[in-house]
Amino acid sequence: MAYIVFDMEWNQPMCAAQPLKGKNGVKLSGEIMQIGAIKLDDGGEIVGDFSLCVKPHFYKRLNKRVRELTGITKEELAEADIFPAVFAQFDAFCGDAPTLLTWGFDDVPILRQNLIAWGLGTEICENSYNLQTIFNTQTDGGKSQRSLAYALEYYGIVPKLEAHDALHDAYHTALVAKHLDLAGGIAAYGGGSSGALWEHPLLTDSFYPYPHKRAAFADKALVEIPCPTCGAKLSTSKWVTKGGNFYIALAECPEHGELIGRIKFSHVSDTTLSCVRNVFKGSKFAKEHYDEVFAKSENRKERFKARMKEQRRAKKEKKEV
Ligand SMILES: [Zn+2]
Repeated sequence: MAYIVFDMEWNQPMCAAQPLKGKNGVKLSGEIMQIGAIKLDDGGEIVGDFSLCVKPHFYKRLNKRVRELTGITKEELAEADIFPAVFAQFDAFCGDAPTLLTWGFDDVPILRQNLIAWGLGTEICENSYNLQTIFNTQTDGGKSQRSLAYALEYYGIVPKLEAHDALHDAYHTALVAKHLDLAGGIAAYGGGSSGALWEHPLLTDSFYPYPHKRAAFADKALVEIPCPTCGAKLSTSKWVTKGGNFYIALAECPEHGELIGRIKFSHVSDTTLSCVRNVFKGSKFAKEHYDEVFAKSENRKERFKARMKEQRRAKKEKKEV
């Protein structure tokens, strides 16, 4: 059995007016345009690599932001194979019963969406783990999602290749993986530990692009967490953020228990946001994490208010003088 460390680049719709496309009941929040992967043996040694581009099918125009970030050109994509052909090669590269490892929890849901959109089986997604969780558990027990750059620096690894190329990112992730106890991390994974809040979403939904966050939070379909089991729309706590593009909220189904949701916004263009909402099983750790983030955000608001008050006071004083 091999470990497959993989990373993908994907293309997103261009603007708010463009609805998400898809087939077989899936809306694609991103169409895969590059897959990069490194194969590790049981001992964590690199034994192979894989890199292929995918010809666009659903989103034929290459998003400018994606193009700038990845440096992938229209011409490269036009010459590539369509997804089913590329995936067949990836599947063959992975071999029997692979364990997929990613940095972050975005790649696997995107892979699943693309497989469904092409009518392909999603079995490969089942045995997948987020290395961020294993990294946190085996280092300082942190709860936040560390960037790959953070993990590289943590181990004193100097990246030699450019970021935002799927193979390069997979290679750097593999270098981090070499420092981790993969078998141990996988065995302990999903034990409800504090570092494992964001494992295995029960529900992943992408939402149509919004002009700004205010519009997103006015959309009930987005803010009300549905129960992944019975589908009931649940009364949902306030969505809070640590600052940045991640928001979390708690909900509870009277029948099926506690849940925690997280929304990730990403910029499709300067004036357009798209977002993905994942719903996870709640736990005491989820509740603690939410309370912590909530308190910090209230604190930030208080400090902001105090600053505004102080500015008003200073202005007034100036006038009086
Ligand atoms: Zn329910």
